[in-house]
Amino acid sequence: MLIGGEWTDGTGGERLDSYNPFTQEVWGTIPQATEQDVGNAIEIAHRTFRERWRHVNGRDRAAMLNRLADLIEENAEELATIDSTDNGKVIRETRSQMRFAARNYRYFAGYADKLQGNTIPLDNGQMFDYTLVEPLGVAVLITAWNSPLPLLANKLAPALAAGNTVVIKPSEHASLSTLAFGKLIAKAGFPDGVVNIVTGDGRIGNALTANPLVRKISFTGGLPTARRILESAAAHLIPVTTELGGKSPNIIFADADLNAAVTGAVAGVFGASGQTCIAGSRLLVQRAIYDEVCRLVVEKVRGIKLGNPLDETTEMGPVANRAQLDKILAMIQQARDEGANIAVGGAKASGPALEGGYFVEPTVIVDVDPSLTIAREEVFGPVLCIIPFEDEADAVAIANATEYGLASGVWTNDLRRAHRVAREIEAGLVWLNTYRASYVGAPFGGTKLSGHGRERSWHALLEYTQVKNVMLDL
Ligand code: NAD
Repeated sequence: MLIGGEWTDGTGGERLDSYNPFTQEVWGTIPQATEQDVGNAIEIAHRTFRERWRHVNGRDRAAMLNRLADLIEENAEELATIDSTDNGKVIRETRSQMRFAARNYRYFAGYADKLQGNTIPLDNGQMFDYTLVEPLGVAVLITAWNSPLPLLANKLAPALAAGNTVVIKPSEHASLSTLAFGKLIAKAGFPDGVVNIVTGDGRIGNALTANPLVRKISFTGGLPTARRILESAAAHLIPVTTELGGKSPNIIFADADLNAAVTGAVAGVFGASGQTCIAGSRLLVQRAIYDEVCRLVVEKVRGIKLGNPLDETTEMGPVANRAQLDKILAMIQQARDEGANIAVGGAKASGPALEGGYFVEPTVIVDVDPSLTIAREEVFGPVLCIIPFEDEADAVAIANATEYGLASGVWTNDLRRAHRVAREIEAGLVWLNTYRASYVGAPFGGTKLSGHGRERSWHALLEYTQVKNVMLDL
């Protein structure tokens, strides 16, 4: 772990195994931090903020962030290989995620010297009033295992650009890339103690989220954990950004370009073996084209190539760990018990190259009744539910009949309808005639049980800054 610029195993002596989901073998271990280690990291981050980091000007912070982006690019192959080995995501995707992470640091580097307040005319010039945009202090950044470094970049880039210090906790299931990334921090020129990394599982949750020196928590993960963090943060009213799960609708209208829509829908859910928060896991298809779309989707899904995530030609790797495999298969079984019509997939994938790994067949369930459990709950695996609808009102009603509200897609060539439906959908993200496209300048986040707060874009800076008002009697 990285605490105050020193690499340490912590005080507890316990280590956790990291598994390669393609071989099921242990390929690394990480320290399980103790509460004392966490307290120490927060205390150092606090001291560094007070005594040093808040006096560093924006230009210098920008230079460090740009250098960090360069270093990520220089080390992209190694970082991508670690993530693909640790969580099973295919190498082409993890490589592109490293490019995304680097762009993220560069983008926010541009903001570091532009955090300006304003002047406010008061009382006919008798009073002079201005605002200062200030960092919050220590931010705790907690990430999930599915995309460790891009998820971290979404948080760390704006947090550092705005002048905060941080304590990072990656998922215990995929911490190794974050630790490798930690080696770049000092090389980029950040003073010791600005970026700290602790590892371990939820046992250190409270120590991270109920410490009064913490001024901000940004969390990416599941709903039950989010609830625990919000309760724990309540003691000191620590503000929490939550980036949680989804059950995102992808709606194809009869007038859409079918090939583009089907390609987008399949990539939108089966990318990363379905383990993305924005997975378009409910495909809503207008009745007139329903049979044709089901046929095209099933045909495409049959062609998805499963295999070693480090192989350049593999299109879908294993799911990330044993618990994921068991959970996904159990949800498919429950769907079967509830009468689901499985058109393709539905089992653990087998085959000579797949036996050692946690592979799930890409699965398509057709004619889905929206009330089925599998159509309501996040699977976080390669499972697509296809649901027919009659008209626009019907599509919007089905799309919104979920407690989640993260992403959505609409495929239509009717411009007016596209904009109308975009306004009606209860989600933080709407893609029109595309799906899963991402840009660091576009805000990212959810509504309802998908969480609140925004990452990326200037909105993310607001999560890591506060405004101070200064009033002077002339
Ligand atoms: P998780 O909630 O189990 O774990 C997330 C992180 O929280 C891990 O680092 C974990 O160690 C930590 N944690 C566990 N207990 C804690 C506690 N009591 N206090 C503080 N931290 C604690 O989630 P996961 O299984 O790692 O990730 C899967 C979930 O993440 C899915 O629901 C997925 O949709 C969501 N996700 C959301 C986004 C997004 O941007 N919206 C992105 C990726 C994943």
